Amino acid sequence: MKIQHIEAIPLRIPFTVGGKSDAGAWGGKDLKTVDSLLLKVSTDDGLVGWGESFGFTAVPIVKAAIDAVVAPLCIGRDPALIEKLMQELQRTLHIFGRSGALMFGLSALDIALWDIAGKAAGQPVHRLLGGSDASALSCYASLIRYTDPELVADNVRRALDLGYRRLKLHEIDPACVRAAREAAGDEVEITLDVNCPWSVREALDMARRLQQYNLRWLEEPVWPPENHAGLARLRREGGIPIAAGENASTLMDFAHMLQAQAVDFIQPSPAKMGGITELRKVFALANANNTTVMVHAFYDGPGLLAGIHGSAALGGANALVEWRFFDLEAQLYGDAIVPKNGMMAVPQGPGLGIEPSADVIRDYRLH
Ligand SMILES: [Mg+2]
Repeated sequence: MKIQHIEAIPLRIPFTVGGKSDAGAWGGKDLKTVDSLLLKVSTDDGLVGWGESFGFTAVPIVKAAIDAVVAPLCIGRDPALIEKLMQELQRTLHIFGRSGALMFGLSALDIALWDIAGKAAGQPVHRLLGGSDASALSCYASLIRYTDPELVADNVRRALDLGYRRLKLHEIDPACVRAAREAAGDEVEITLDVNCPWSVREALDMARRLQQYNLRWLEEPVWPPENHAGLARLRREGGIPIAAGENASTLMDFAHMLQAQAVDFIQPSPAKMGGITELRKVFALANANNTTVMVHAFYDGPGLLAGIHGSAALGGANALVEWRFFDLEAQLYGDAIVPKNGMMAVPQGPGLGIEPSADVIRDYRLH
């Protein structure tokens, strides 16, 4: 079997989030659409695998990286030799950077190759990773940043009404966190993701103000994200468990993060950090360091499925799935992965287990 064709497909799907929002970290204020990048890998014997790269405003550069650099290196190669091909591509391209657009592109490719491997074997990817008897995983509603305590409370209630008992906020103002805790009550698990705004000193001051809201974790509190010593200090002195990792890339970054004792929860993002091949290694490394993996899956396509299969096979009983609390105009997988009562089904079909909708791709493709 050989890789015959690779096509990067940008999608733009309108969404709403229950009020005015601010996605400053990856899209800008009052963002109206979710941009994503699918990768379709076709083989000479008719199998098709689907991957996904981290999207939003990075889509044009990742598509260029795939079209101009990654795809030409892969045509004619055996898609079954995933580890070998990914190692070779990482070595060939390392001089151009070990994270960012090229690595996002490699991540999408790797996910597509695992989809092909599962389809060739007639098995779901989680079985290729060791298997899972979970038919569904708990998930948390990952709310966008609203910056307005009333809107935060409204949307917390909206998520609870839909059956979620775990929430993530993206607020940076303690008043918004208080509004969420008051709306949710004491029993709901709340995490807070602030996307790297603070110095270590500022983060320590904020942690003191946030302690009273009983956060399960504080995510990416420190700028820059690779300030592992700063995260470690905050973890020791701040009184709130620390999560980070969505901006780390490849196994070594995660090794450094663990060596620094920077995190309680480590968050590899399979559509950014090297795909399922690299994700599997981070699970093993985290296990050896007694650290819980919480896969970052701010996606709704193959990037999300990659995380579900990884978590189902490798994540243990505490694995959680991140679900963007967006109301998309169209879902790539229809209702198949939309959580019910805070649980997300583990796909059981071959490969990633669900095929993307041809209608959604046709209707929302950016040309
Ligand atoms: Mg995050």
